[in-house]
Amino acid sequence: MTEIQETQLPVVVIVGRPNVGKSTLFNRFIGEQAAIVEDRPGVTRDRKELEAEWLGRRFRLVDTGGWLPAGSELDAKVSRQVEAAVRSADLILFLTDGSVGVTDEDEAVASWLRKVKPPVMLVVNKADNDRREADRWEFLALGLGEPYPVSALHGRRAGDLLDEIISRVPDAPLSEEYQESYGLDEDIVVVGDQKPPRVALIGRPNVGKSTLFNRLVGEDRSVVHDMPGTTRDAIDTLVETEDGPVVFVDTAGMRRRSRIDDTAEYYSLVRALRAVDASDIALFVIDATQGVTAQDQRLAERVDAAGCPIVILLNKWELIEDLEDRERIELEVKRKLYFMDDAPVLKISALTGKGVHKLRPVLQEAIEQYHRRVPTRDVNRVIADAQQRQPAAGGAKVMYAIQGATDPPTFTLFVNRELPHTYLRYLERSIREAFGFGSTPLKLRVRKRGD
Ligand code: GDP
Ligand code: GDP
Repeated sequence: MTEIQETQLPVVVIVGRPNVGKSTLFNRFIGEQAAIVEDRPGVTRDRKELEAEWLGRRFRLVDTGGWLPAGSELDAKVSRQVEAAVRSADLILFLTDGSVGVTDEDEAVASWLRKVKPPVMLVVNKADNDRREADRWEFLALGLGEPYPVSALHGRRAGDLLDEIISRVPDAPLSEEYQESYGLDEDIVVVGDQKPPRVALIGRPNVGKSTLFNRLVGEDRSVVHDMPGTTRDAIDTLVETEDGPVVFVDTAGMRRRSRIDDTAEYYSLVRALRAVDASDIALFVIDATQGVTAQDQRLAERVDAAGCPIVILLNKWELIEDLEDRERIELEVKRKLYFMDDAPVLKISALTGKGVHKLRPVLQEAIEQYHRRVPTRDVNRVIADAQQRQPAAGGAKVMYAIQGATDPPTFTLFVNRELPHTYLRYLERSIREAFGFGSTPLKLRVRKRGD
């Protein structure tokens, strides 16, 4: 009886070359989770397995301890076992080492995984601090989607990784204890963030980032300090403003006279993503005289996916004098950047300073919202009210909801069956309005109750 249940659990397999931290991650998960249901000796000497539970979701975690076919020197038997494990897995965690970067071996495995096509999460380990975490974008080159950072050793982002894992194995059954705890009233304390907010100024070359940066710094009559940036060649700038300190991320190109060559689109994209990653808010600058270009759109999509709140700045606005032109550009922003429809749009002139003052309150507010945490009781009240006002079709229902994470605020909804996408948008709006989240991005995660 127990045996049968066990085999039905989704299987998550960790693979990666030696020394990337597979065992450390495995052990971290053991330490991180509330309950280890069972730990049993592996099938082979190297293979470790355990039944894991996170937020009530159960799955089987396997550390193969071995390696995938990459060279003749490898033990064929181990490789065959790993290969079999990969093929039968519900999710692969492909672990890499962010402190080393992409290696030939990583590339070989990535290419094998791209061929076999199991569901893969690319995980970049040893992201021990912000700087290391920003280095993960290099791993985009492996062609396995967005790299997830974690520090197995220090536990940094381990909870986020577990969140993501259980959202990728939607069939993971919910434990009985967790079902019983539905309705539990738990207050989550608001965590104050003492660190200065971090702001990224991003956009294509020549849209006016440096001009705006100098304007912002000059206008506040601020004290400015250089500090080491998130990556080796980056410089961040700490600015003491009237509202308190603010860090502008990766300002190397804006502070030096000779600019870093930003012409290679890929490089500037990686650079922008790193900056956004290390930031609490992104100011996305567009040259209004050019409208929204394809390159703006691509950059915007990636920045949006990084989940950081965004303010769209239509710069050089003083050059658009014709009323019809103004309307056309505003419409273009709505149409081409529709996926950012919650982001405020400000029209400014970095050159003359017109409109720049509107930025400060927006910045302050967005930062505050980003770190907010709403008590579980209130989330459930808002969801219940919303469902009463407008029930979903076919008896689908949210049974329980929690805010699982901040930065950005992430809500987990436990549902009895799938909810239509439009209904989820409705719930998102309800949460946004009830708690005044404004334009900050919200993430909703939906978990279906195991039958
Ligand atoms: P495996 O061979 O892939 O199982 O790798 P291990 O788990 O044995 O880790 C290899 C080495 O990397 C050990 O010295 C670990 O302490 C170290 N390590 C693992 N995770 C991290 C991490 O997040 N940060 C740092 N700095 N070191 C790590
Ligand atoms: P960056 O590459 O994004 O940092 O762009 P810069 O700040 O170097 O600006 C590129 C060019 O646009 C420079 O010649 C600026 O003087 C000009 N520029 C920047 N902001 C404005 C603006 O608001 N209006 C006008 N007319 N020109 C601007």
